Amino acid sequence: MNKQQIQKTIQFANTQCENVDKRLTKKRQQVLEILLNANKPLSAYEVKNQFNKIMDSSIVAMSVYRILNVLESVNLVHRLKSENKYMPCSHADGGCHHQLSIFLICNSCHTVSEINETDELVRSLFKKVQATGFAPTTSQLEISGTCDECQHSTSELIEK
Ligand SMILES: [Zn+2]
Ligand SMILES: [Zn+2]
Repeated sequence: MNKQQIQKTIQFANTQCENVDKRLTKKRQQVLEILLNANKPLSAYEVKNQFNKIMDSSIVAMSVYRILNVLESVNLVHRLKSENKYMPCSHADGGCHHQLSIFLICNSCHTVSEINETDELVRSLFKKVQATGFAPTTSQLEISGTCDECQHSTSELIEK
């Protein structure tokens, strides 16, 4: 993510927090920035280590967990349950409501792409669930495998 995108996301994060009477404190913002700058999901400990390495103040793991919980509660950050790692929402521009998200996790390069109910397929899946009379709150599906790019690079290696 480039500087401009990060700035835009931080701006949105501020509004998102204000909407629910929370504040994007300096530390919360710094944690979010670390996740935005990482190109893969990070564990709370990795966030803590990064924080203590690059920020001018230090932080303990407990605070990192607390901050991540707050950021998660306002949908700025998602926790991947299968990996117990955190990533920033890929739709941090206010475009989605997060009733259902699907995460595609690459086992090889550890990048994650997020598809949510703005996608037709996810929306119809969600409608099907509701048609059974079930009322889902927040839900996420995690699918692990190999991303397009990694499949490509492996096949290239074999060809050579
Ligand atoms: Zn999201
Ligand atoms: Zn990959």
